[in-house]
Amino acid sequence: MRAESLAFLKAIVNAPSPSGYEQRAAEVYRAYTREFADRVYTDVMGNTIAVLNETGTPRVMFAGHMDEIGFIVKHISDEGFLYFGPIGGHDPIIAVGQRVLVHTKHGSIPGVIGRKPVHLLDDEDRKKVPQLHELWIDIGAKDKADAASVVRIGDPVTIAVEFQELRNGFATARGFDNKMGAFVVAEALRLLAEDRPKAAVFAVATVQEEIGLRGARTSAYGIDASIGIAVDVTHASDYPTVDKRRVGDIRPGKGPVICRGANINPRVFELLVETAEAEGIPYQLEAVGGGTGTDANAMQLNKAGMATGLISVPLRYMHTPCEVLALEDVENAARLLAAFTKRLNSDMDFTP
Ligand SMILES: [Zn+2]
Repeated sequence: MRAESLAFLKAIVNAPSPSGYEQRAAEVYRAYTREFADRVYTDVMGNTIAVLNETGTPRVMFAGHMDEIGFIVKHISDEGFLYFGPIGGHDPIIAVGQRVLVHTKHGSIPGVIGRKPVHLLDDEDRKKVPQLHELWIDIGAKDKADAASVVRIGDPVTIAVEFQELRNGFATARGFDNKMGAFVVAEALRLLAEDRPKAAVFAVATVQEEIGLRGARTSAYGIDASIGIAVDVTHASDYPTVDKRRVGDIRPGKGPVICRGANINPRVFELLVETAEAEGIPYQLEAVGGGTGTDANAMQLNKAGMATGLISVPLRYMHTPCEVLALEDVENAARLLAAFTKRLNSDMDFTP
């Protein structure tokens, strides 16, 4: 990967951006896309939109959500411990023992999610998975007043781990889901800026996907594109305990995943496959029988409908702080999205 691109990927992945609190990722996205987009703007929801060739046809929307899962401070106890709820879908077993950052107006404050030591757990406790509301964050506060002097109810929290490269082109981070997708739509726009398409292209880093595809809904309405591609992660099935019978045979390093099913316009699907084959980009297929849990779902149902596609990157350990992917798939997803968009013209009919 190009050094500047890798630096952007690291910066956006490391930027804390739980749903509803995406401003730091948006800043990173704006700074990067400003270099090559014709225009970059942020709407009232917080979606950040980089535009190329605004008067072109057809109008195409890319969506990569830049929010990540996190926690939100709900209560400060008399002893100064912070109780919290989820932002997005969590496996509570992951939270125990983590270092966290509480993002306050005084900056990001370190803390830990503590638990009673194993010695003090009775047999029943050892078997039980704690619920999130039973856990607490310890920032080292003296008491409630001390904690409340820096932390406010509603401050968001992220787990304090950052991007790390692994062997063989693999990398780990929290929040690859889906700041990787925001990265891909920006990279595709950069490639298209070098080799300009006929289409008008709106590369959106959407907000609030993890809590109900909320940013994609309003940005799709605002942009009013006829064609839309969402970029997200999908479950890899090449590690222990994941059942290929349920998710298919999806492997990191074997290329981006092109989705097929009711949420996907069949002509968009075929054009994505044709493009991958013509460009020599490796790809995999996945099938989803209904609406996907991605921005593609909200996009397809925009106004009178949008011809929608979904490109995914295989991810191990989704919604944990140690998500793993292959960087090559991320690059290839951007290449596929750009090459697909180059092929679009206003004579194409996407009626199934
Ligand atoms: Zn997710």
